Formats: sequence, C-alpha cells, structure tokens
Amino acid sequence: MNESQTPLFAANWKMFKGPRQTKEFLDSFQSICEPRDDRRIVFFPPSISVEAFLRASSSRPDLEVGVQDVHQEVEGAHTGALSAQMAAEAGATWALAGHSERRREFGDDDAIVAEKTSRILEAGLKPIVCIGETLEEREAGRLAAVLDRQVRTVLSAVPAERLTWAYEPVWAIGTGRTASPADAAEAHGIVRAAIEAGAGSGMAEVAVILYGGSVKPNNIGELMAAPGVNGVLVGGASLDPEAFAAICEVSLTPG
Ligand code: PEP
Repeated sequence: MNESQTPLFAANWKMFKGPRQTKEFLDSFQSICEPRDDRRIVFFPPSISVEAFLRASSSRPDLEVGVQDVHQEVEGAHTGALSAQMAAEAGATWALAGHSERRREFGDDDAIVAEKTSRILEAGLKPIVCIGETLEEREAGRLAAVLDRQVRTVLSAVPAERLTWAYEPVWAIGTGRTASPADAAEAHGIVRAAIEAGAGSGMAEVAVILYGGSVKPNNIGELMAAPGVNGVLVGGASLDPEAFAAICEVSLTPG
C-alpha cells in the first residue's frame, strides 16, 4: 500500500439529510468516531447541506466533504444544476461522478461522466468516478467489457493519477445484496487491468479503488480484506452515525 492508498471510507447520503439533520448526524458521529491517521473519511451530503456540514464539523478537519454530482458544463442555462466551480467555492473538496443512480435516472453515459470528471478536476476538486455493471450485463458475461469501457472512456479525457475509482455493481446498490469478497477482488482486478491498459502499470498499482454496494458493519471486515479493495463507498448504512462509525472503525489487516 502506498500513502495515497490510505483506506478511504466515503458516505453517499443521496437525497437524505437537509442542513438540520446533517448537524444532528455530525453531533452524534463526532462523539463516537475519533480522528485517526490510518484512514480517511469523506461525506457526500446533498449539496444544500454542504455549508451546514462544514459548520458542524469545523473542529474536525479530518472529515472531508464533497458533492454527489456536478454539471458537465462550466456554467449556463441549466436550471437546478450545480457546477464544479460552485461546489468548490462552497467548500466542497470532493465530487462523485457517474453514480449509477445518475446514470440510470439522468442519462449520464460514459462520455458525460468523463466530461464531468474533467470539470471536477479543473475546479480543483477530487473526483470519485463510479463504475459498475448491471445484473443483466454480469449475467451476459460482459463484466470485464463494461468495466474496461467505463474506465477507458474516463482515462481518455483526464490523467489517471488524479482519480479515485468506486466499483459499484449496480445489482448490489441499495438492494441488500453484496458482492462477495471474491467478486469484489475479481472486479477490482479488472478495473486495475483497464487502468494499466489506459495509463500504464505504475498507475494501476497505485490506483485507489473503492467497493460500493450494500456495505454494512457486518460485512465491512471481509470486504476491506479482499485483495485490491482500498476503501468503500457506503449509501444506506452511512445515514446512521453508529453504523457508519462502526464501518469506519473496522480493524484493518496490515498490507
Ligand atoms: C451508493 O449509494 O453508492 C451505495 C453503495 O449505496 P448502498 O450502500 O445503500 O448500497
């Protein structure tokens, strides 16, 4: 493990928790989860709650914050959308791109995800690029082809060294169905191979690849122990301070 691969625990709150609930969560979470230097924690609240997040966590600079999506253009007539630059100005330091819910509900395809990732980097934010296959694609034997296409489209637009990846099998998101540690290890290996093909073996070795999909306190240990898993992106279980603290405090095997 190199320094950039310090385990990363990311919380995607989706469309939950306005400013008041954000503060309530942090009051509780900060009292049970102490800062530590062997892991990193990033929250993705709704963008309207970023300011409340920063205020409520002002004594905890170890807790970072990002937005769940940005528009692929710098600015313009796009009612309801948010630019990467605005997110940075509001104090966010990270942004998700390509979450499967954005791909499914808002039509974000690989090319749009690559454009969004470019805007995120231009604004000085750190992107987490989400990729993953649907159940139909997996059952059709297309796992490797889908992951390879998703990774390579992004790598054709931006430099690999500035990216964090999240492998999230679509069939495991919010379903209670988790990939086995062996499934996660296999998919992470495919993602690393795609990074190697697009950016060289050095980049593939140091790439940070998170696993996401129904991560809970009772499966975090085995998932973090799976080869090639550098952290997790957690949806449902990150809404509860105790459950997310338990996930963030998992004991890690050195290596
Ligand atoms: C997610 O939203 O990225 C996610 C993985 O959700 P869940 O943990 O609820 O499956």
